[in-house]
Amino acid sequence: MRAIFDERQLNHRPARYFRRGAYITHPEQAERAILIRDMLIANGFAIDSPRDFGDAPIKAVHDPAYVDFFKTAHRRWVEAAGEAEPIPTYHPGRRAGRPSRSIYGELGYYVTDTSVPLSEGMYEAIYWSAQTALEAAERVCAGERMVYALSRPPGHHALKDGANGFCVFNNAAIAANRLSERFGKVALLDIDTHTGNGSLDIFYDRADVFMCSIHVDPSDYPTFYLGYEDECGEGAGEGATLNLTLPSGADEALILSRFDEALSAITRFGARALVVSLGFDMAADDPLSEVKLTGRGFETMARAIVRLGLPTALVQEGGYLGPSLAKNAERFLTSCRDELAQGQPDRGAA
Ligand SMILES: [Zn+2]
Repeated sequence: MRAIFDERQLNHRPARYFRRGAYITHPEQAERAILIRDMLIANGFAIDSPRDFGDAPIKAVHDPAYVDFFKTAHRRWVEAAGEAEPIPTYHPGRRAGRPSRSIYGELGYYVTDTSVPLSEGMYEAIYWSAQTALEAAERVCAGERMVYALSRPPGHHALKDGANGFCVFNNAAIAANRLSERFGKVALLDIDTHTGNGSLDIFYDRADVFMCSIHVDPSDYPTFYLGYEDECGEGAGEGATLNLTLPSGADEALILSRFDEALSAITRFGARALVVSLGFDMAADDPLSEVKLTGRGFETMARAIVRLGLPTALVQEGGYLGPSLAKNAERFLTSCRDELAQGQPDRGAA
């Protein structure tokens, strides 16, 4: 199993995060990806750089004007506001109106919360994070059974036209959209502890991508607004969305039972390929976690995902600077590699 990574993803350097009324050090640090990259090297994974597929595959799931905004946003901010950290003050209301011409207006139009400060290297980082996921998807389209995309910043909170929860381009959705062109029916399984609200937004009315997210009950935990169990998709996508919620404090047995429900649903849907939004922030010691998954739980998930027998792109999402981040990534990815080596049949290939 190969891994994909690009060093330019490290160039986004958010400084502060406004959380519960106070500024803290931003949790989404480049160090996260460095720890996982070094773990991959230590475990002998081959790491390849992504090719450049351009911005068309990104604009296939995001509003093109939204994508273009980030190409010049940081420069425009610096021209207007100088050295202050680019965090929006203004946001549209329920009727969104228009983006406005002002960098201050446009920033709040396209960045829905205060968790996504612009930085000088941000566009480079988000662009190569998306290309990293695309490279994994392309290789799966070309016949590789499972590929891991070390994407950073993460992507699953990015809405069609809104940055949210540290995310700008929805890497996993971009990968799933590419796989749907090749395989038809695709499942996107999100095991990050937070709702894959961006992926829900992007695929809510689509019948070809089954979006399944396991996460802490959003009624009392970020991302708050989407991810309730009665949200099942709409229009052509009715029935192709499944939200499986966990109570705060959920233990490993409960998490794994919901995970089993997710895998059964993916099988019933008839997915021919799989994207996993792979967060490690369900770990008991993750700084943002409210549930209690252990390394053993991550291994159980990894082996069960391989046993689905589907061509699979693993796309990195959350997982923050707690003591076990690299250990859990190691346990998950080496378990995938071991399970693949046992020669499971490739049932999903077209
Ligand atoms: Zn998360």
